[in-house]
Amino acid sequence: MTRLSLFPALMAESYREVTPQWLKARGFAAVIFDIDNTLVPHGQEATPEVTAYFSALHEAGIRTFLISNNSEERVKPFAEAVSSGFVCKADKPSRKRFRTAMAQMGSSSGDTLAVGDQLFTDVLGANRSGLTSLLVQPVEPHDPPGVAWKRFFEKILLFFVNKSEKQLKSPEE
Ligand SMILES: [Mg+2]
Repeated sequence: MTRLSLFPALMAESYREVTPQWLKARGFAAVIFDIDNTLVPHGQEATPEVTAYFSALHEAGIRTFLISNNSEERVKPFAEAVSSGFVCKADKPSRKRFRTAMAQMGSSSGDTLAVGDQLFTDVLGANRSGLTSLLVQPVEPHDPPGVAWKRFFEKILLFFVNKSEKQLKSPEE
């Protein structure tokens, strides 16, 4: 189902809440991640915490993929560090790369989660592709130029979202 919606299906403070246990309890087999400000501050390399997190996902049988609008130079080393397939210069919110990611992971829109920090790229792209979107708080409070205006409109839109309905609940809840 294609939904032209800027509203995330789910919200969390951080990718850390998206645990292997939670994913399995919700029936997700694969996760597509944005990189900048979702996993690390803009432009930063993968931290030991992030690489350990991806290892834990893989050990639990969860497949992962990175979709970034950033350059190959930025994305490729990060993807190698977390042992994930990737698409760079993805033109999110284009649906094309979300399809590529699911094809490469052998997953479908029904069992794939997309995690990102921006409504106008990550969430819109995931919603248009029919998969479940999860918005996380940006890792860094200060954005590079060009993102500030989007954050302004995001704040307005998120004012209308009932966040308590969308927060992740641990599997036992
Ligand atoms: Mg981002």
